[in-house]
Amino acid sequence: MSRKHIDLKIKSATDLIKRVLANHENPVVACSFGKNSMVVLHMVRQFNPEVCVLFNNTLMEYPDTYKFKKIISRKWNLNLIETRPLKTFWWVVENYGFPLFSRKGHKDASKNCCRYLKEYPIKKVLRQHKFDLYFTGLSRHESRLREFSAKKYGNYFYSRTFKHWKCHPIQDWTKEDIWAYHEIYNIPYNSLYDKKAPDGFDLRTGCWCCTIPIKYGKIEFLRKNYPHLWKLLLKKGLGSLILEKKVGVSLPDGQIDDLIQNRPCFFDKY
Ligand code: SF4
Repeated sequence: MSRKHIDLKIKSATDLIKRVLANHENPVVACSFGKNSMVVLHMVRQFNPEVCVLFNNTLMEYPDTYKFKKIISRKWNLNLIETRPLKTFWWVVENYGFPLFSRKGHKDASKNCCRYLKEYPIKKVLRQHKFDLYFTGLSRHESRLREFSAKKYGNYFYSRTFKHWKCHPIQDWTKEDIWAYHEIYNIPYNSLYDKKAPDGFDLRTGCWCCTIPIKYGKIEFLRKNYPHLWKLLLKKGLGSLILEKKVGVSLPDGQIDDLIQNRPCFFDKY
């Protein structure tokens, strides 16, 4: 990637930020303390160093994220606001099932999970603080849904769902662009990205407990990098569920210990 290429992208993103900031009085930057959010936060702070920063704390973020949040909040003196989930992840599992494995009678556990842990708490905080502009670090390359949304709405639009304006300044950036920006400005990053991930597993900040990406190696990633969280997830019912789905055998949660100890690990692949 040439320096000219990234300089053009930076100029386009910062021009947009400058332009939209002029239209609003109460902006906020959504920050997951991942690589994308750090870029947008760094850019917006060049124009508004006091800008509010919103961390959607699901209480299920990776330990590295909590550690990094603490360091950056202090170092950058952030004006930080945190959400709290309306219901816990384990409450959602109990009532609707795991994301990807909805309980009988419930259509979409993941939708309810995201509602209680993210959507409702974010809406509540946005209403309380009357923010009128919401910056995010979303990139169209991260999922098909984001690609679709990018095509439909562009990078600056009014969200009827959230009732405020949204701006995605790095919507067209690739992973390489993001890391290039980090390098140019020497932006600190979350140590989560130093963890080794299985091939095909897209390492992202967010809920460590999310079971949606398990077919891409999430369980193996947790086992190798966060064994205590891995064990907790399997023992809280995910182990029995995977066993049932893969081989049609049911075992009570307490009785999968032997299977958990076996190598190669039965749960790595789904
Ligand atoms: S990302 Fe997954 S675990 Fe987190 S709130 Fe959404 S469905 Fe739940």
